[in-house]
Amino acid sequence: MSTNINKIAVLTSGGDSPGMNAAIRAVVRTCAYHNVNCLGVYRGYQGMIEGDFKEMGPRSVNNIINKGGTILKSARSKDFMTAEGRKKAYNHLKKANVDALVVIGGDGSFTGAEIFNKEFNFPVIGIPGTIDNDIFGTSHTLGYDTALNTVVDVIDKIRDTASSHNRLFFVEVMGRDAGHIALNTGIGAGAEEILIPEEDLGLDRLLESLKRSKESGKSSSIVVVSEGDKTGKNVFELKDYVEEHMPEYDVRVSVLGHMQRGGAPSCFDRVLASRLGVKAVEALLEGKSNFMAGILSDKIVLTPLEQAIKGHFEIDKELIRVSDIMST
Ligand code: ATP
Repeated sequence: MSTNINKIAVLTSGGDSPGMNAAIRAVVRTCAYHNVNCLGVYRGYQGMIEGDFKEMGPRSVNNIINKGGTILKSARSKDFMTAEGRKKAYNHLKKANVDALVVIGGDGSFTGAEIFNKEFNFPVIGIPGTIDNDIFGTSHTLGYDTALNTVVDVIDKIRDTASSHNRLFFVEVMGRDAGHIALNTGIGAGAEEILIPEEDLGLDRLLESLKRSKESGKSSSIVVVSEGDKTGKNVFELKDYVEEHMPEYDVRVSVLGHMQRGGAPSCFDRVLASRLGVKAVEALLEGKSNFMAGILSDKIVLTPLEQAIKGHFEIDKELIRVSDIMST
């Protein structure tokens, strides 16, 4: 491996996700394995601008693989959107003798990393950390699998109370413009209907489906709604709409919110974080830059950051069909 990189900085940026700590640990320990120094940057790009750094050795990341959140804290930094802010960040990194940077975050964080790389020719590698799974070049982002398990667990509990009272529940899940969480948890938790941004089923189809469900003898119903769905109604307006057209239904709403981002990472996310951390550091040591480390067909691969940011990750149409069949 190349020897001109002697110190690598690592930061977490944007929304936090379970598995970020495991990725920090992997970056720190891979650096130690290759006798490269590692610097932790607190509060994402804002900490880089303010020089909020901490030297990290392999023992500094003991007992964090199982922890949600991020020990380095995360932030959204308006200052990093300005050339002046990025220059300050660059000066701090140079002063601390940092030669390369690993950014753990979502597409916004990658956009910042790419701009920073272009402006200062500074080596960067991204690790996708977001529960939304909305990044091209990886079948799984860090935290997505944990979020799926968290949501399924909660919907199972909601189903218990829904079936005790013959109720219809609308459960809103995260995902922004991507329906991966809704589609997969909807199937996994046996939802009657799933509303995702990628498919506009229309409100008539929703009513028809609920009527069919009632006629077929189902005593309770769960509809999983992705926060970015295209019905044009938020989850509370959906409740009103259904109650107006189907007064026989007793409708409730549950917005799961930020609990979806918390909790101990699943085994899948811990292993993924470890593999991506190793790949990110070793790619930098091989002289690579401006890539994201991701996973495709269970292989760890590099995708140019630009593609990871701009590429479109399609929803799996087969899953939509499976969900339709399962709601029969
Ligand atoms: P999540 O998917 O959880 O929202 P994210 O990484 O997409 O994570 P953002 O808030 O979009 O989160 O971006 C994180 C940070 O990246 C921003 O606060 C900003 O500091 C930096 N960033 C985003 N876009 C740009 C840009 N165009 N130029 C410079 N920096 C940027």
